[in-house]
Amino acid sequence: SSLPSSSGASLHGSAGGKVPLGLRRRALRVLVTGGAGFVGSHLVDRLVERGDSVIVVDNFFTGRKDNVAHHLANPRFEVIRHDVVEPILLEVDQIYHLACPASPVHYKYNPIKTIKTNVVGTLNMLGLAKRIGARFLLTSTSEVYGDPLQHPQVETYWGNVNPIGVRSCYDEGKRTAETLTMDYHRGANLEVRIARIFNTYGPRMCIDDGRVVSNFVAQALRKEPLTVYGDGKQTRSFQYVSDLVEGLMSLMEGEHIGPFNLGNPGEFTMLELAKVVQDTIDPNARIEFHPNTADDPHKRKPDITRAKELLGWEPKVPLHEGLPLMVTDFRKRIFGDQEA
Ligand code: NAD
Ligand code: UDP
Ligand code: UDP
Repeated sequence: SSLPSSSGASLHGSAGGKVPLGLRRRALRVLVTGGAGFVGSHLVDRLVERGDSVIVVDNFFTGRKDNVAHHLANPRFEVIRHDVVEPILLEVDQIYHLACPASPVHYKYNPIKTIKTNVVGTLNMLGLAKRIGARFLLTSTSEVYGDPLQHPQVETYWGNVNPIGVRSCYDEGKRTAETLTMDYHRGANLEVRIARIFNTYGPRMCIDDGRVVSNFVAQALRKEPLTVYGDGKQTRSFQYVSDLVEGLMSLMEGEHIGPFNLGNPGEFTMLELAKVVQDTIDPNARIEFHPNTADDPHKRKPDITRAKELLGWEPKVPLHEGLPLMVTDFRKRIFGDQEA
């Protein structure tokens, strides 16, 4: 395909004559599946901002029209209510395939639907990419490492995943999605990219979506106890959403297939996270222990050497800086503008 390379340079630029040659690029038509969701809507903001035409395909299972409402008047933006489990015909240059619920609460709600989305939905988007010669980026997940026996996790690690557990619809689903992506690359010459995303937080997360950062923030703001599952000693590494979007775009525009870990190596136990939330919102917030869920990974931290070296990417926003930005958004949505 004739997509621009990592420099973004293109001789067919429509940006006019005043842009330095190296910065000139052709405006692209970009499909973002799941673009009304948390990560997708931030990605859409950046793509629209740089001058691309963006189509969002979303079934609004966990996404919200509010997340993209500010683009509706833009003629270069379009949103289609559609389920990726069904085929679709579109003409674009790039496909960012995000459609899939990401919170364990949501993906376990209807596991059959989740695995269909990951397998049939990804197959359809790959078939679409093949027909139109588009570059395809899969948003996979750190969950492909399962309950990892290697720490931190490197891309060459094959993982430790329960194939028949309650999380399998998601982690095995994403593993199959990665397999499909590589098979279309090898078998149909498709240009593909694979990102393995580690826990990401920020504005626009569903307030009650059940993930730990959104839960703790909403609980602290509502003066409810912070619900720590298990002993709270399990770890996660939390990435602010703008860092992720930067990584996804660098990956799409670059020359490397991946997979690439995209995450912030800053590792926290859930009790340490609760402490950061207390320090940020309410030092008096109480902690309440609850039984943990099945197959919960004990620890998780990305090794991002590969992304640093090959994409020139690394996260910039530490938790203590990103969290307040999310809190401002949650305050507005929970209490309304007057108390924001
Ligand atoms: P999200 O739930 O906010 O967004 C997912 C979007 O996909 C929603 O808008 C939802 O309505 C849409 N969707 C779900 N099923 C669909 C279907 N069958 N057809 C069409 N649209 C559908 O989640 P997110 O946090 O924005 O995650 C986006 C992607 O990134 C997901 O693929 C997720 O697996 C991956 N990811 C996210 C994280 C994270 O921490 N946020 C971590 C690892 C991987
Ligand atoms: N597909 C789609 N849009 C397209 C092209 C294909 O949704 O523009 C779907 C198609 O319905 C099929 C899947 O993608 O279920 C895989 O397509 P492919 O052409 O690779 O396989 P085939 O149709 O030959 O089985
Ligand atoms: N967790 C918690 N309290 C909550 C929600 C989650 O202690 O209210 C824990 C959960 O058991 C897991 C970690 O936080 O160990 C991250 O969970 P999350 O659902 O955010 O994402 P995961 O990484 O498991 O997909």
